[in-house]
Amino acid sequence: MDLYCVMGNPVEHSKSPWIHARFAELTGQLLRYDKRLIPLDGFVRAVRDFRAEGGRGCNVTVPFKFEAPQLATRLTPRAQLAQASNILAFDGNDILGDNTDGIGLVMDVQDNAGVALAGRDVLIVGAGGAAAGVLGPFIDAQPRRIVIANRTVDKAQAIVERHAAMAREHGVELHASQLEANGAFDVVINATAASMSGSGIPIAASVLKPRALACDLMYGPAAAGFVAWAQENGAVARDGLGMLVEQAAEAFLVWRGVRPPSAQVLAELRATLA
Ligand code: NAP
Repeated sequence: MDLYCVMGNPVEHSKSPWIHARFAELTGQLLRYDKRLIPLDGFVRAVRDFRAEGGRGCNVTVPFKFEAPQLATRLTPRAQLAQASNILAFDGNDILGDNTDGIGLVMDVQDNAGVALAGRDVLIVGAGGAAAGVLGPFIDAQPRRIVIANRTVDKAQAIVERHAAMAREHGVELHASQLEANGAFDVVINATAASMSGSGIPIAASVLKPRALACDLMYGPAAAGFVAWAQENGAVARDGLGMLVEQAAEAFLVWRGVRPPSAQVLAELRATLA
């Protein structure tokens, strides 16, 4: 049986084993998918050990997404642009680094939430691994304007500079900003770790246009504060469960060459968690 896993720290909360087991069931693929808690200084060794056991691929989560591309022998263009990988695929001596976070979120926003991004104003809050993975696919969807706002504004600036040429080619205005971002937006993505650490809402409600889509990349009880804040302020609230399932579906496609029925699995997962 082919072996896969998610590596992270923390990783106990991860729903990825459930999602991939269900994908495998629905597509008739034979595989086993585990979760592995990796010591903060132990990522390189963990990948080496997993490959030695016959591992075929892994998801990479906090805090190893920036370390993962350094282990890859080749990177997809989307991982290169993000400088972060949320998946690795192993084939003999070849290690492919990819990033499916961004396409996963775009699919969730456009296909599952039904909000077309073209021509919209988008605020992405945060400039860590998730924001870096999300920006390229968001530019591809051709909104009118994207602002990356971060507590440490230099990090937002660095991501913006890396994507500046792509944004120009797609006719998308792209700026970096402090958390006190000016203006109001149609789509607001909380890609900070604030919900994970329980440190509250990192932005003012004035960033929300009426009926804006406000999406926290966290899910479960940790996202409840953001979801309530968005609803209280007239937005359509969404958590990160859809992105989680869609990025997993794209990873499954990379690993197995088959796209699983992600909308069905998202509905089942929501029902299970409810
Ligand atoms: P990361 O690389 O550690 O980046 C964390 C970001 O959050 C940084 O921009 C940091 O700002 C900011 N931040 C942390 N605490 C903050 C606070 N109290 N106030 C304001 N900003 C704060 O983490 P990541 O990988 O990008 O992940 C971010 C979130 O996305 C996590 O909650 C993660 O679980 C979630 N995520 C979900 C999915 C999914 O599939 N649903 C996929 C990927 C990530 P500084 O730069 O100033 O430190």
